[in-house]
Amino acid sequence: MDEKLDNLNSEHQLLDPDEMYAWLEDRLRGVGHPVDIDRIRAAYELAKRGHEGQKRKDGSPYLTHCVAVAEIAVDFGLDEDSIVAALLHDIIEDTTVTHEEIEKQFGSAVADIVDGVTKLTRVQYTSKEDEQMENLRKMLMAMAKDIRVILIKIADRLHNMRTMDYQTPEKQRSKSLETMEIYAPLAHRLGMQRAKWELEDLSLQYLDPDGYREITSTLTEKMPQLEAFMDSVKRKIQQRLDEEGIHASIFSRIKHVYSIYRKMYAQKLNLDGIFDLCAFRVIVDTIPDCYNVLGIIHDMFKPVPGRFKDYISTPKPNMYQSVHTTVIGTEGIPFEVQARTWEMHHTAEYGIAAHWKYKMGDSGASLRMGDEDKFAWVRRLLESQQESDAQDFFHNLKIDMFADEVFVFSPKGDVINLPAGATPIDFAYMIHSDVGNHMVGASVNGRIVTFDHVLQNGDIVEIRTSKSAPGPSRDWLNVAQSGSARTKIKQWFKKERRDENIARGRDMLAEELRRSGIALEDVMDEDLMAPVLKRLCFNSPDDMFAAIGYGGLASVRAANRLKDELARSIKEDSKKTALDKVSQAAERREQQAARRESKPIQGILVAGLDNCLVKFSRCCTPVPGDPVIGFITRGQGVSIHRQDCENYLNRSRAPEEEGRWIKVSWADEITERYNTSLMIYARDRTGLVMDIATVLNALNAKVRTLNARDNSGLAQIYITLEVKDLAELHYIITKLSQIGGITEICRNGK
Ligand code: MN
Repeated sequence: MDEKLDNLNSEHQLLDPDEMYAWLEDRLRGVGHPVDIDRIRAAYELAKRGHEGQKRKDGSPYLTHCVAVAEIAVDFGLDEDSIVAALLHDIIEDTTVTHEEIEKQFGSAVADIVDGVTKLTRVQYTSKEDEQMENLRKMLMAMAKDIRVILIKIADRLHNMRTMDYQTPEKQRSKSLETMEIYAPLAHRLGMQRAKWELEDLSLQYLDPDGYREITSTLTEKMPQLEAFMDSVKRKIQQRLDEEGIHASIFSRIKHVYSIYRKMYAQKLNLDGIFDLCAFRVIVDTIPDCYNVLGIIHDMFKPVPGRFKDYISTPKPNMYQSVHTTVIGTEGIPFEVQARTWEMHHTAEYGIAAHWKYKMGDSGASLRMGDEDKFAWVRRLLESQQESDAQDFFHNLKIDMFADEVFVFSPKGDVINLPAGATPIDFAYMIHSDVGNHMVGASVNGRIVTFDHVLQNGDIVEIRTSKSAPGPSRDWLNVAQSGSARTKIKQWFKKERRDENIARGRDMLAEELRRSGIALEDVMDEDLMAPVLKRLCFNSPDDMFAAIGYGGLASVRAANRLKDELARSIKEDSKKTALDKVSQAAERREQQAARRESKPIQGILVAGLDNCLVKFSRCCTPVPGDPVIGFITRGQGVSIHRQDCENYLNRSRAPEEEGRWIKVSWADEITERYNTSLMIYARDRTGLVMDIATVLNALNAKVRTLNARDNSGLAQIYITLEVKDLAELHYIITKLSQIGGITEICRNGK
């Protein structure tokens, strides 16, 4: 199997496609693959017809590229369908042969792979930020659907990089950059170390020709010395392992140019400062032997502390397994030793492709793998991801390839990552909220589409905007798939349609409250609203209504909060009232005890007398608040007068009435209303009585009688009315005195 490893690097000089193909066919027969040679030849014939007359930049027939890519597919160990697809990989792009024709002759698997490669070929990219690169790589994976598409694309790129000399310097640079940024990392992540190294070294050759030459020429210069060193170390190890009875194959190599280059730049060293240019690989039959080898190496050479790594017990995310150590040789030169089994070796060299390699090696194994088997390797890979770095590429790689993501391009070539099912609305808002808010149209791959058009991987999406755009519609909230687009649409409604939202939100909340039998007005009280607003983080009721209006707050949520607050305040109020009552009752008991007084009658307490009859004098009509005095009548109980009553003032000092005046007071709690009278003097005018009646009506005063008398231009209006107390009476007098023409208002009308 190992002679094949070297074929990757050996660029044979045959430029006749028929000869190249014959060589490929021999190889396929030689390695004993049970492939259908006729089917592969048919693919070659179709490619030959299709690419007839087409030439590569170096003048050789285009077909040579197709055969070369198929050869690399064989190197990778890919299956028969892959080899057929590799031969046909450029046929849809560059010839008149269609998907249908390929499907008819070679089946849908081959046709789909060729289709996938074609799609990837059409993807245009310019150099981007790292983050963009990651998206691009993901997009390629997503577009590929079948991992073999990526493998053939890597084979295609590898051959193009190997034959880049005839391209223009610009093309060399841009392809090299793309290779370094896209294809080498892809190969790495698929565990294909060998392809990765070659892609990196080829790219470096064009990206930094001087740096590349410096390293290769120094290596060439040092080569005899390095080779002598490697031979001696290899011999020593081999001898010791033989003694220990360990069956092992030992390989030595100079590290690849790009890894030395990176080390020089990362550590700011020149080549002389980098010692560990050599690496040794010991390949054994069993895992215990890997550790045995490690022990023997550490016994033979001095290990460099901190350089031992066990990727057998903890494989790398790309399934790489080996034990690594760095030791210092007798010459004082450090070198790395890796120990691994053959199986680990194939996985390390070919990564994901090793799966097909094993399948082909099994005698009698079916070449047409069922879907179950097809991605077994990837599945294993993914299972191993669970414990490894979550940041890793494979974290997002699913067997159905990013089923919940879609990758599209902006017209500028930026890759935009959206949730599956995303529409131009999602795309527009992902670019910028302004783009979304001013969107008036969208096109995909140059064709105008509706806003609910579902985007596909690799689509180029263009959004037309207008300053006079009406802005998003509420329907967009249902069309958008991404949370961020929906948030931005809601934000727009929040900002642009505030008045509309306030009105709408108020109605929605009122409706919600009405269901619980609560009127919105009942909860608009400051005390009630303030804690609710604070709780929901709004500055004003309008802010809250607006939020309900644009959909940022569910009306039921606001309603529930208000209901809770209402319930809480009612509970507190009743508690407070109860407390008040308790303290008021206590106070009253004290007062009563101090006065040794009896129960009030009609709101009047008479000193020393219980249950006496009380009447209010008609001469001065006292109301609560007036200082009062009582007069003990003959047989008619106590008559209550105001202390400023003329009758009282005139009669209080009369000797015959001595001892009949008695102290009285108003009760603390008065529930009755009291009749009182007013005499109003005014200049007579039309409408005066009507004005007085209107004011009294407006004050809700309960008028019992109203008599007006005209006395030669002067009016006298006599009113009796019911009031609660002196304060109410004064208020009514103040209001009446403001009526035009009124000159005086007196109590004691009679
Ligand atoms: Mn190609």
